[in-house]
Amino acid sequence: RKLNFAAGPSALPLDVLQKAQSEMLNFNGTGISVMEMSHRSADFTEILTQAINNLQDLLDIPSNYKVLFVQGGGTGQFAAVAMNLMRLKPNHSADYFVTGTWSQKAAKEAEKYGKVNYVLPHTKQFKGVPHVNHWNLDNDASYIYYCANETVHGVEFQEPPSHNPDIPIVADMSSNILSKELDISKYGVIYFGAQKNVGPAGVTVVIIREDLLGRAMPSTPAVLDYKILAANNSLYNTPPCYGIYMCGLVFEWLKTHGGIETTAEKSNLKSSALYDIIDNSNEFYHCAVDKEHRSRMNVTFRIGGSNGNENLEKKFLEEAQNLHMIQLKGHRSVGGIRASLYNAVPVEHALKLADFMKDFQRRFGE
Ligand code: PLP
Repeated sequence: RKLNFAAGPSALPLDVLQKAQSEMLNFNGTGISVMEMSHRSADFTEILTQAINNLQDLLDIPSNYKVLFVQGGGTGQFAAVAMNLMRLKPNHSADYFVTGTWSQKAAKEAEKYGKVNYVLPHTKQFKGVPHVNHWNLDNDASYIYYCANETVHGVEFQEPPSHNPDIPIVADMSSNILSKELDISKYGVIYFGAQKNVGPAGVTVVIIREDLLGRAMPSTPAVLDYKILAANNSLYNTPPCYGIYMCGLVFEWLKTHGGIETTAEKSNLKSSALYDIIDNSNEFYHCAVDKEHRSRMNVTFRIGGSNGNENLEKKFLEEAQNLHMIQLKGHRSVGGIRASLYNAVPVEHALKLADFMKDFQRRFGE
């Protein structure tokens, strides 16, 4: 198998894929695949319950929070968050931190459902989170929204932005969930698409504080209404059953591999192996993101100076590919290189990439 540094859909733990393969045709003696099973059967109910329980354990989710499995991806949640929460306060407005592509898209979508207050000064170059002195927070906001890890630019909040605790905070954790300890009680809503740190594309998980249920605007589609989804334990309509099963296997795998303490430790190890090389490369490798907000999940950099030398970058990608290291190309909107180091990427893979980066610089650096 390849060393897969994809930004998503991305690598899954080999053990998980093998377990799924072993159960593919005959799940737990049922004589059928999970794909062929009724979502209302006892077997699937057990799969769903186990997945929720394991996620609750891993994240230490307090009992006044619901875990929902939904469809529509992160993009569906850009709308769902606004439709469910924009009316919490009479102003129908929300504060958005825009630190990259995904929070920008979320803010744009939310504009359809209420007033969006942009907390940070406008920029086209996402390089971190501006200092708190430059924030423009609104005390009448219904909620505060941020993207915990911007997958395209490689910008990560180390902590949730400080804010008035009476206003619920909403976090898109699609690309860094389960990679570090979280105090869930600080959040109103956390959501994440599965396809990076958790499982196959097609499943999105929402963790919501119960008092925020039932506040949706009347035109909210039933499949996006958190209250309806919660009241039906994610079975209001047919859920992405197989994807949920796969997520459940990943949760189990995480629990037997040291949980979040271990993923956090490994994420630091993997990302610092690459950032150390970048920082000691005399600008041969250049990361645009300020050190404080560099992502541990998506390491973005240019080769051959801050604007990148496209020929060198092409060569880098070709040579990496020949060494079976794949999907390292930066997002089309920013170019350069992006190494995604999600939980299923073994430390050895990141160290191999680090060795290759050193060798590449030795051969092509000045
Ligand atoms: N949020 C983040 C942080 C993402 O990285 C992505 C996709 O890569 C999305 C949201 C959008 O997710 P989806 O493609 O599932 O709609």
